[in-house]
Amino acid sequence: MTASTNLPQLVIGGGVVGLHAAIALASQPGHPEIFLLEKEKFLGDHTSSRNSEVIHAGFAYPKDSNKAKWCVEGNRLTYQWLDRLKVPYKRCGKWLVAFNEQEVPALTATLENGEKCGVGGMRPASLAELRKKEPGCADFGGVIFSETSGMMDAASYLRALERCFAAQENCMLIYPCAVTAIHPEKNTIETTRGPMEYSLLVNCGGLFADEIYKMAGGKKDYRIKPFKGEYMIWRKGPIQEVIYPVPRRFLPGGDKDKRLVSSMGVHLHRGVGGDLYVGPTQVELDWSQKTDYNIVTPPQEFALQASQYTKKEIPVGELEPAYAGNRPKLYIDGNPYGDFLILREKKQIHILGTDSPGLTAAPAIAQEVLRQVSAP
Ligand SMILES: Cc1cc2nc3c(=O)[nH]c(=O)nc-3n(C[C@H](O)[C@H](O)[C@H](O)COP(=O)(O)OP(=O)(O)OC[C@H]3O[C@@H](n4cnc5c(N)ncnc54)[C@H](O)[C@@H]3O)c2cc1C
Repeated sequence: MTASTNLPQLVIGGGVVGLHAAIALASQPGHPEIFLLEKEKFLGDHTSSRNSEVIHAGFAYPKDSNKAKWCVEGNRLTYQWLDRLKVPYKRCGKWLVAFNEQEVPALTATLENGEKCGVGGMRPASLAELRKKEPGCADFGGVIFSETSGMMDAASYLRALERCFAAQENCMLIYPCAVTAIHPEKNTIETTRGPMEYSLLVNCGGLFADEIYKMAGGKKDYRIKPFKGEYMIWRKGPIQEVIYPVPRRFLPGGDKDKRLVSSMGVHLHRGVGGDLYVGPTQVELDWSQKTDYNIVTPPQEFALQASQYTKKEIPVGELEPAYAGNRPKLYIDGNPYGDFLILREKKQIHILGTDSPGLTAAPAIAQEVLRQVSAP
């Protein structure tokens, strides 16, 4: 597929994946016009601004999966982008803890998996070392530390990516502008702002990428199911940085459930802005509930989860509802797929299943899009 005609290249979806894909396309020498189309009034209105803002290291995903490859590469690239765009972040690392002795083998499995996936900067740590940084933490069964994990200000990142793309020649953002129909036989689309022709269409629709795939004539049974992740703020919480449980898929039986591939469990993280968050939950929603962002999990549940990290019980009144985001999990033929999927069909590229770690992986996903566009 080459950018051989002067017709525009279109990117559908102004989240972090679409922004990076559009910026990557703008790096092609002599590229045609590039339009980024977003249906909402703001870029990143959905998943890209409703997540944990963690720059993941990449140790949690199956070796050779797209998630592992693009998260490890995306981690490196994301720090470069944050520096280049002067976006606030902290390279604080991440503590991973076993709540009890039974979970310790899962910590070991996480370390081994990280090594297999090429993640640098992971090491066993002691409770004493953790206590020096986090005096308020509980008596864990085991601890490891991931040095390359960090926290970013995702809202600033999106705005900076938007400016970066818009500043380039022949690059335009159009929003609000929803793509309402695609005619692959004519290489045209219809939008709420009128029709457009294209030489290349890149579907970065996140939760709605399955609908765009179908609009474009896609025949396979690809569907995106939303899994809600809710957060509460804990203003009096004693944790200073980022503490996660061992990834759920390394617990006994966890590897059999592909819905758990990106499930890190409820953790505590202090954002770049200084607030401590408890979350995210994982609530499986109905197919149609893609934009249901109500917090439904009771505060008692958050208090219970958060108290596992601290020495004391947490009064429910200390927790305030914050926000929720929906993970776009890809299902193929009715089964959870558990990975990112990039599909190239003639003049179309579809990016499906951008749940976690898509914020981190986005620049690496964009490089893959560019590779596919440049391939003969
Ligand atoms: C609870 C939660 C926690 C997470 N935590 C992390 C984390 O800590 N670290 C990490 O790396 N990742 C994390 N993620 C994952 C990360 O947020 C996503 O992978 C990433 O934001 C996906 O970006 P996107 O661009 O694919 O989707 P989106 O941000 O949803 O963007 C897609 C865009 O497409 C637009 N669109 C859809 N249909 C159309 C149409 N027809 N016409 C025009 N525009 C359209 C939408 O309006 C939307 O703006 C988390 C996700 C969740 C839900």
